[in-house]
Amino acid sequence: MIIIKFGGTSVGDADRVANAIEIVSARQERQPIVVVSALAGVTNDLVAASEAARSCDIDRVNAIVAKLRQRHEDVAMRLVQQKFDFFESFIKQLDKQIEQVHTILKGIALLGEITPRARDKVTAIGEKLSSVLFAYSMMMRAVPGEHVDSEEVLITDDRFGDAAPLMDETRAAARRVLLPLLERKLIPVMGGFIGSTREGATTTLGRGGSDYSAAIVGAAVGAEEIQIWTDVDGMMTCDPRLIPGAKVIGRISYTEAAELAWFGAKVLHPKTIAPAVAQKIPVRVLNTHNVASAGTLITEAGDADDHGPRAIAVKRNISVVHMTSSKMLGAHGFLARLFAVFEALEISVDLITTSEVSVSVTIDERHNLDKLVEALKPIAEVQIIDSQCIVAIVGRDLMKDAEVGARVFHSLRGVPLSMFSLGTSGLNLSIVVDDKHADAAVRAAHHALFEMPVEAEA
Ligand code: ADP
Ligand code: ASP
Ligand code: MG
Repeated sequence: MIIIKFGGTSVGDADRVANAIEIVSARQERQPIVVVSALAGVTNDLVAASEAARSCDIDRVNAIVAKLRQRHEDVAMRLVQQKFDFFESFIKQLDKQIEQVHTILKGIALLGEITPRARDKVTAIGEKLSSVLFAYSMMMRAVPGEHVDSEEVLITDDRFGDAAPLMDETRAAARRVLLPLLERKLIPVMGGFIGSTREGATTTLGRGGSDYSAAIVGAAVGAEEIQIWTDVDGMMTCDPRLIPGAKVIGRISYTEAAELAWFGAKVLHPKTIAPAVAQKIPVRVLNTHNVASAGTLITEAGDADDHGPRAIAVKRNISVVHMTSSKMLGAHGFLARLFAVFEALEISVDLITTSEVSVSVTIDERHNLDKLVEALKPIAEVQIIDSQCIVAIVGRDLMKDAEVGARVFHSLRGVPLSMFSLGTSGLNLSIVVDDKHADAAVRAAHHALFEMPVEAEA
């Protein structure tokens, strides 16, 4: 069994869907289970529709819903038109789903208020439609696809918008639903990103969550490999949109890949690696536009012979919180009191640096900073710097080569740094810079680490 997951751009239009079906068809003997994202851009449109509904802009809601319906009809027209009964049947399902989401949106617009539960019900429809369309298109091409409702397979907690799988229930459901289909030589096709609570309420796993769905399902059925098919040749030394000359990484370890994903390498959702690690399932990142390329293989060992920098990631929309207390000079318990505040407000911290009287941390900008400042006031003087980015250099035994630090800091001369941190694990050297300097900092560091010839050892 393998999991084959296609991202939005890999199913963006009729030609891309046809290409994706060929990829599945060529791997039939490996017993694939297909996980698909919404068509490219659809989730963004659904988020925009929810926002329009919340601000009672019903005209905009109607326009977005009409556009989404038309887009799916157009793609279906090109993919399944030859068999008119498939087309008819798809349009019926499309109309039913669109009508349901339109009703919810109209209700939101009437109230001018949206709950996380309603938001998930709306955003989930992208994957519901794309997966049905994909399964129909497979049948059209005599590839035995069978649509599976993700809400029956992926059982989650009720943190709407950021749900986590309940693995025992999901394992049981996945085996009950998927394995009999595989035995009948059918290829299950399900939407990524979505699941449901035990009570049956629709949930989503967070933006970009279809990768995570693929890994959860892979772990649930004990797949031999999880394949993430996307629009680039694999995990690269940097986002190729930022560094066009970035190079593909052939093999990388779970820990390195997870660190890169966490620090902003969008090619993998940050939680994707965890379910794979638990069962040691290899994850492969592959390119639907370049099927012949070997991609990136992510395993426990990674590239056992390699150490040093592997890639650079950028995490944007970060705030730095500097906390100072001269009263605390030499006193114990300062850190515990500070972090109790973060714990109470459920704010997670990425990087930390400390001196005797001050502590600096980075947090996501989306948190309620006023509340944080208020709660920290009795303990420390607080200074917050917004619009920061973490530039994370990731690799195993990063500093084994003493030149690495010198190269990085030399390349960044002239760029003001708000903070930097080097984990003792030697896995991550992170630099925090103002958003306006981030791209230049990444380019400079990438050039110094991956584009300059390594000097011959004396
Ligand atoms: P999908 O729709 O297939 O899920 P995403 O847009 O979520 O695709 O992720 C693929 C994108 O991730 C690439 O187009 C690339 O711009 C970006 N990316 C960021 N960092 C990296 C990296 N280190 N290696 C490869 N791609 C990266
Ligand atoms: N469609 C969802 C999103 O755009 C999930 C995904 O594509 O992975 O966030
Ligand atoms: Mg993605």
